[in-house]
Amino acid sequence: MFRLPRWWRQKTNPPPIADAGPWFAAYLRQRADLAATASEFQCDPACRRPGCKNQDLQVPVTIFDVLAAARHQDQPLSAIYQDRYSLGLLSNEREDWIRMVTLKLQKPCPFLKNDLCSIYAIRPLPCILFPEYLVNEGTFEENARKECFKDYLCFQRPLLLSPERAKVMTELKRMWKRESLISSFYLFNYGPCHIDFCNLIEDLSSEARSQTKAEEQAEPLRLIPHHILESFFLKHMVKCHPFAGLDEKIHHLDTREGQAELGQWLQDDLLLKKLKQGGTDRTVFRFVKGRLQAQRRGLSVSAQTV
Ligand code: SF4
Repeated sequence: MFRLPRWWRQKTNPPPIADAGPWFAAYLRQRADLAATASEFQCDPACRRPGCKNQDLQVPVTIFDVLAAARHQDQPLSAIYQDRYSLGLLSNEREDWIRMVTLKLQKPCPFLKNDLCSIYAIRPLPCILFPEYLVNEGTFEENARKECFKDYLCFQRPLLLSPERAKVMTELKRMWKRESLISSFYLFNYGPCHIDFCNLIEDLSSEARSQTKAEEQAEPLRLIPHHILESFFLKHMVKCHPFAGLDEKIHHLDTREGQAELGQWLQDDLLLKKLKQGGTDRTVFRFVKGRLQAQRRGLSVSAQTV
């Protein structure tokens, strides 16, 4: 049975949500309304939807995005999670050995039907934010020059945001940060979790060699592909605390009680403050002798992604 951390069980605020169904319906409607407010951006009809199809653009999601899709498709959250999402790692364009643990959409995205998003109104916040938020944070042109975005028609012409839309983007990004922190805490009992693979270079090199044709093998260290780190994580680490209880927590959200708890956490400013404490310090795990060991440390590259 999924149990809340002891420090949390001793708290009394905010009051429990009596019926999470209407509460989440209102919250997700507000999110969808914001997504549509003052928006002038539309995907080009000629776009081949690389962001929805290609493996190299990972779409991180939170448990709130999964809940929104489950409600939209009228399915239990655990069923929709099983078919369309997975636990994985984000590279965050890091060139070191640290990766962030996240829920993410499977690719090609199972919600893409005939090149259209079948859950457009309630699509995950990263899908809503992309690419408009890049304008807001001043990185649109820089991203447009990247090789990985060369097939994205939305980067091939300037994108302007009205002041009103810029404010909406800022608000949606704030919601994304809040949902991300609460989601990670609910799923793993921590804020954002990272894995440092630097002590596993030999194991990873050996795994990479076993999956790479001899003629393609090159200088080993910097060229270990992200998918090797992720498959190592899924093979060896997800069975360890704090990731081992994920299935149980996902199933708990099929219940009214589970959803009421999650809604209560999302409203809790004190919990959010606690999760933000430490500034840029993050929980970083190392895999040692078959167990994950946690440390708090500063990370030089931002863990947050759009
Ligand atoms: S949820 Fe919709 S917008 Fe997001 S990747 Fe899937 S199909 Fe594309």
